[in-house]
Amino acid sequence: MPTIIERDLHMATGDGENSYTRNSRIQEKAMFQMKPVLEEATREVYKAVLPRTMVVADLGCSSGPNTLRFVSEVIGIIARSCKELGVKQHEYPQLQFFLNDLPGNDFNNLFELVDQFKKSTTGNRQGEAQPPACYISGLPGSFYARLLPCRSVHLFHSLFCLQWRSQAPGGLKGTGKTHQDKGDIYITKTMSPSVVKLFQQQFQKDFSLFLKLRYEELVFGGQIILTFIGRKHEDVFNGEPNHLYGLLAQSLQSLVDEGLLKKEKLDSFYLPIYSPSVGEVVAIVEQSGLFNMNHVKLFETNWDPYDDSESDVVQDSARSGVNVAKCIRAVTEPLIASHFGETILDTLFKEYAQRVAKHLEKEKTKHAVIVLSMKKEN
Ligand code: SAH
Repeated sequence: MPTIIERDLHMATGDGENSYTRNSRIQEKAMFQMKPVLEEATREVYKAVLPRTMVVADLGCSSGPNTLRFVSEVIGIIARSCKELGVKQHEYPQLQFFLNDLPGNDFNNLFELVDQFKKSTTGNRQGEAQPPACYISGLPGSFYARLLPCRSVHLFHSLFCLQWRSQAPGGLKGTGKTHQDKGDIYITKTMSPSVVKLFQQQFQKDFSLFLKLRYEELVFGGQIILTFIGRKHEDVFNGEPNHLYGLLAQSLQSLVDEGLLKKEKLDSFYLPIYSPSVGEVVAIVEQSGLFNMNHVKLFETNWDPYDDSESDVVQDSARSGVNVAKCIRAVTEPLIASHFGETILDTLFKEYAQRVAKHLEKEKTKHAVIVLSMKKEN
């Protein structure tokens, strides 16, 4: 039997207006930012190991276009590395990609995209060098379990996934909620310290397990690149996701107040998320003693995926509110629909868009994104 998370945690399916496919620009922008780290790690692994078949896994690939952008990047990096090293075309490595996500992911939509991708890359290349041969497979399963054979993977990549926990405190039903925490769905300033601790412990447990599993699956000389939503400040109460999900909790509360949602439903829900600080991440990698960290940094990106300006002021907060709500809806809809029911979705995210807009009028808030790359030494 799949767990509740395995069944209900996935991004909005299909390719319609509210789908993840059409609402994944924030992740696309983050990928652009972490490209130099990907380039360096991929080159290093290839040059150190020179595999005949290079095995690459994208963990938490979802069903949108970003995972194929990643595949395309890796193919390009390997082709350039081969050229620099003077590797002859017939000696190019073969590339085997595994695209992993939870079983509830829309793999059908993903496979359609894979098919289009293959057609677009095997076009007529008269006179041009052929890229390395590439094979792409889907791999359903949780990355908090073993996915691949021992020492078989050269490169792991995961974009915008490791903020997701394997479960919420007290399970998804939030049985640990005290009276004081009833309306909370994520960490707030007023939350009981024991529940905050449960969120933190779940992160520590999940992340340590993730590192151990990936260590087993990596070849010596293999590398991992992780990009996920973190927290800028060490103080757990001072985090950007606290605002983002706090506004979602307030929106749910307003539906309860209007009688559209049963109070018990809100009283029994926590998001299975935790966004750590750089310090918390580094502490766990060091504690594990498994990897050499090559690179760790934090960058910020506007909440509104379509706001590319550096300015501290939001130009059109109503529009930004709608954009943020679409992005959060694409990511949380299946989870929210399964707990609260589908009928509230439109009202909930309309309310949420307005609350986000009001917040952005006062303060232009940004996501804090952590990029980490590490190596399994010989
Ligand atoms: N990397 C993609 C998707 C990011 S959305 C992109 O950048 O566009 C986060 C994805 O992580 C979702 O598809 C979700 O289903 C997946 N995910 C969350 N927890 C997971 C787990 N334990 N195992 C595998 N995938 C997981």
